[in-house]
Amino acid sequence: MPYKPKRPCAYPGCGRLAVREQYCAEHQKVMDKRYNQYERDPASNKRYGRSWKRIRDRYIKAHPLCEECQKQGKLTPAEEVHHILPLSKGGNSNAENLMSLCKACHSRITAESGDRWGKGY
Ligand SMILES: [Zn+2]
Ligand SMILES: [Zn+2]
Repeated sequence: MPYKPKRPCAYPGCGRLAVREQYCAEHQKVMDKRYNQYERDPASNKRYGRSWKRIRDRYIKAHPLCEECQKQGKLTPAEEVHHILPLSKGGNSNAENLMSLCKACHSRITAESGDRWGKGY
């Protein structure tokens, strides 16, 4: 069965068939707009969803020491996980793009890269 059965639009008083999810094309737009009004920053919500915390925790468990300090022979417990290529520049949250950092290294790197998103990630 490639197609879901068509249902009527869930918008009150609308008798058209739903094209996507539960609304007709017109009302889907209305509902999308309404939904977006509650999301102050949909882009960043998508970037730092609930799954980020899990990715971060898992990464820090696998890399418990600050990777920058380690390069200098220092052993500092990592406190934060840094995106090497910032998400705002098209990076992702795969392990290859992550770095365990202590607070000091993280703020230094964030300042150097001029990442305006600097939300502590
Ligand atoms: Zn409708
Ligand atoms: Zn460090």
